[in-house]
Amino acid sequence: MMPAHETYDVIVIGAGAGGMTAAAVAAAEGLRVLVIEKTAFVGGTTAWSGGMIWIPANAKMEAGLSDSITDAVQYLSSTVPEPANAGLRAAFLARGPEAIGYLEANTEVRLQPVKDYPDYYPERLGATRGGRVLEPAAFDGVWLGK
Ligand SMILES: Cc1cc2nc3c(=O)[nH]c(=O)nc-3n(C[C@H](O)[C@H](O)[C@H](O)COP(=O)(O)OP(=O)(O)OC[C@H]3O[C@@H](n4cnc5c(N)ncnc54)[C@H](O)[C@@H]3O)c2cc1C
Repeated sequence: MMPAHETYDVIVIGAGAGGMTAAAVAAAEGLRVLVIEKTAFVGGTTAWSGGMIWIPANAKMEAGLSDSITDAVQYLSSTVPEPANAGLRAAFLARGPEAIGYLEANTEVRLQPVKDYPDYYPERLGATRGGRVLEPAAFDGVWLGK
């Protein structure tokens, strides 16, 4: 049980990608973080997933491929109905590349482009032939210790 005198700046519930990213960023910012996970494992659904993330106009676009936020807006507009929270979509597009840069600069997360991975609707306006999808590079689990 947690001693009553312990205090934290941030308490994260759930150790999947969402929670662990929040926790890692908070810790990188110098905050005292507690992660509470209900199972005996770290990872949640994320541990079973392909781990691929879709970040348009990221800095790791494969050589020969180009991309822009304008293209990504066109692609999303032609594949996903205009969301009620359009501001959130705009923030995702505008700051996704920055988020990748932040994670690589401040945590052990390393991402690499998935080769030859076109957007799911490659014929639509703003689609790319590849480069938007990144996956985590292999991590040496020995670092985690027992
Ligand atoms: C086979 C498969 C492949 C996939 N591939 C991809 C992919 O390539 N790219 C992609 O973007 N998405 C993919 N997805 C979807 C993606 O895995 C999920 O959207 C993502 O993992 C959700 O992350 P999360 O952090 O929100 O939740 P989770 O990873 O599920 O983490 C939630 C955590 O919270 C814990 N928890 C829940 N309730 C409590 C509580 N009350 N107290 C404490 N802890 C609690 C859970 O035990 C769990 O560990 C895939 C999914 C599957 C099943």
